[in-house]
Amino acid sequence: MNKPLILVVEDDPPVRNLMATTLKAHDYRFISAKNGTEAIMEASTHSPEIVLLDLGLPDMDGTEVIRNIRSWSNMPIIVISARSEDADKIEALDAGADDYLTKPFSVEELLARLRATVRRLSIAAESQDSPVFTNGELKIDYASGCAWLGAGELHLTPIEYKLLCLLSRNVGKVLTHKYLTQSVWGSAWENDVASLRVYMATLRKKLERSPDSARCIQTHVGIGYRMLKIEG
Ligand code: CA
Repeated sequence: MNKPLILVVEDDPPVRNLMATTLKAHDYRFISAKNGTEAIMEASTHSPEIVLLDLGLPDMDGTEVIRNIRSWSNMPIIVISARSEDADKIEALDAGADDYLTKPFSVEELLARLRATVRRLSIAAESQDSPVFTNGELKIDYASGCAWLGAGELHLTPIEYKLLCLLSRNVGKVLTHKYLTQSVWGSAWENDVASLRVYMATLRKKLERSPDSARCIQTHVGIGYRMLKIEG
């Protein structure tokens, strides 16, 4: 497979140069943009595999760039932001970002996120239209609505099953509380977030027979949840 093309959107030259050097050293192909307008243009002209997007841009908010790209493409977008406030990350994720990194980040962290995203892309390509999802010992047959851990069928409530499907269909992507509660209950009230926590806890409990499967559901405190692909 060709090395993936990465679009780096960053207005701060030292940070942009650091990212460019890192990507070059690890054999990624890359293009860059220093503002939102350029980012949208580069994304539509070159169809990069992954976009690394700074949220604080001179001409528009990074979230606007996400909304624009999402109106015509599902290309993975990893948000890179100096802002530590969860609200910005949540807004970016709700607009359609896949993942986030907080500045300052290490080169290793950046490379790990890129590898995870590339892996997710290849899984998505393989499993497109597949009615069965597998991740380690976990198996979900979307057509029959059944899930198993190894040979044992999982006995899930409808809401637990729905959550498991949402997480698995978006494996590798951080799903916000708002996204999950709206998908399950059609609303996003405080009460629903509290219920969501309870359902996620019982779902994890049922997955505990396979510790890898229970651990593969990550909690992002104050933000949401993500299912990771188990290496195998
Ligand atoms: Ca910036």
